[in-house]
Amino acid sequence: MNEFTYYNIPLHLLSAYRQERLVVRTDDPAALAAALETEDPERIAGAQIVALDADSEPLNAWAPGLPLELILRDPAAEFPHLYRHTNLLDNHPVRAIIPVAPGFGKAVKVAVSLDFAVRLEVGQPESALIEEMAVVLEFYLHQSTVAQPIEYFHGALQGFFHGEPVSLWVLQDDDPQCLRYVTDEGVEQPSRRLVALNANVAPDAGLEAWIAQVLAAGEECQGCEFLRNCGGYFKWPRRDYDCAGVKRLFGYLRDAAAELRRDLDVRST
Ligand code: SF4
Repeated sequence: MNEFTYYNIPLHLLSAYRQERLVVRTDDPAALAAALETEDPERIAGAQIVALDADSEPLNAWAPGLPLELILRDPAAEFPHLYRHTNLLDNHPVRAIIPVAPGFGKAVKVAVSLDFAVRLEVGQPESALIEEMAVVLEFYLHQSTVAQPIEYFHGALQGFFHGEPVSLWVLQDDDPQCLRYVTDEGVEQPSRRLVALNANVAPDAGLEAWIAQVLAAGEECQGCEFLRNCGGYFKWPRRDYDCAGVKRLFGYLRDAAAELRRDLDVRST
């Protein structure tokens, strides 16, 4: 654990985490604004609204600049609620966290059209969802109106373009070196993805050691051409997950970065 480690906690556990850096999640924005009024703003790294039908107005002018995230649970049903939170953008960077579930593409398009950044909450997608992800990736790569990043596509594309890959553990805010996720019941996990992880690695060993010894220790990951871009992310929680689809998406991103590089080289000659 390092000095930048933060805890993602539910609001009702605030009193138990008085010293740590925090991301606080709640379904009651008014209660959040009131509860954090007396907190040291330096240790609040962000806040998450987990109920999109909640009134976020109390957060509009509260702690300007504080990053906020809108958590969707059922993207196909909840995306219309995104419209009611656009005022937050006046004072905050706001990101919509959209699970890769059937119909999520519509939610992504609405979110970016409203100027929200997006992070896809991706599990271990089966083939139908891979196809939907491919459509969203195409939209992200080729739709000129997309002005906001869609993670993890954006970070992965940058990694390919600059030849400096960043693993999905980092891009997806799941880095076990930087995050402790505290469940609503108060159970601490290294991240949401690593439930019931029983790893014999020093907590401060560094993400590279975690990836080599635990997260991507399997044979397929060690031989994978996208190991440095992924870090074994898609082998959790099920180790027998078939990565063919996600490798295809990584391939599209790699090709897009190469094309971008070629275009820039042509323009500069
Ligand atoms: S794409 Fe699959 S095989 Fe490759 S590093 Fe990621 S989890 Fe491992």
